[in-house]
Amino acid sequence: MWIDFRTLKEQISLQDVLAYYGIVLHGQGQERVGTCPIHHGDNRTAFHVNLAKNRWYCHTRCGGGDVIDFVAKKEMCTLREASLWLLEHFGQARDKTLKSHSTMPLANMANYPYLRERRITSETVSCYGITYTPLGVCIPLRSPNGNSLGILHRATAEGLPRYRFPAGFLKRDFLYGADRVEPDATTLIVVEGCFDLFRLFQAGLISVVALMGSRATSSQLAGVRRLAKHRVVLCLDGDRAGISGAQQIAAQLGTDREVIVISPPWGQDPADLTEAEVIDLLAPAVHAPINAQPRLQLVRG
Ligand SMILES: [Zn+2]
Repeated sequence: MWIDFRTLKEQISLQDVLAYYGIVLHGQGQERVGTCPIHHGDNRTAFHVNLAKNRWYCHTRCGGGDVIDFVAKKEMCTLREASLWLLEHFGQARDKTLKSHSTMPLANMANYPYLRERRITSETVSCYGITYTPLGVCIPLRSPNGNSLGILHRATAEGLPRYRFPAGFLKRDFLYGADRVEPDATTLIVVEGCFDLFRLFQAGLISVVALMGSRATSSQLAGVRRLAKHRVVLCLDGDRAGISGAQQIAAQLGTDREVIVISPPWGQDPADLTEAEVIDLLAPAVHAPINAQPRLQLVRG
């Protein structure tokens, strides 16, 4: 696909892109200053933006440039990938031919070795808007009502932190997948990570949220209570942290709804299982009749 880089960087406002990431800068007029959203760090005036010129500069180490350079640095991707991403997210001003070709071909993404290795299907890639860069996988984050909250990076390259959330992201308030939970679902399944959620999705289970860890904050517990009408099935990782986390969350959820704790076989995450194994493990709990008396039940895989 041919991309008109010049039109792109003139028409897409850096201010909109910064707002998309939830990056807060200070200042008046055309100048804005703040902590660098690329390398982070302690210097609260390292990052400068000139709104009139639509350009940015980091005085510490990141260099500077236009809106495409910014996304490429922030997402650790190529300029071409950054342009495609910008077209996809801010492309309303573009002409329709560009916009209709703005997503990367699916087959190409499904061939991405990391996703293939983790047995992620092209349907999952497409449904969850997953993209990739040479250094990792980009997973869009959404609020329960579907608003974009930025991009989560799962690094696959050596020497990078495994998961990186957008600057200022409130992980403690967040449940991955909450925007997709069916409103009339009786059962909500809770897992640790988004790849666990993808495996359950591929097994046909849709009302699932991921805590992005093995503990739940009070805000996440409130979210789980809101989404789970009658029953919560906790299916965290089959390790020490997952098992103790599930027990703690079960106790915190209290007795006003049915809570079932299911552990995958020792040493395995739900993401490690096959779709058939996921169904064997979870279907009995998901499809059991709702108990009139809420109770806690422990099942070992
Ligand atoms: Zn910087």
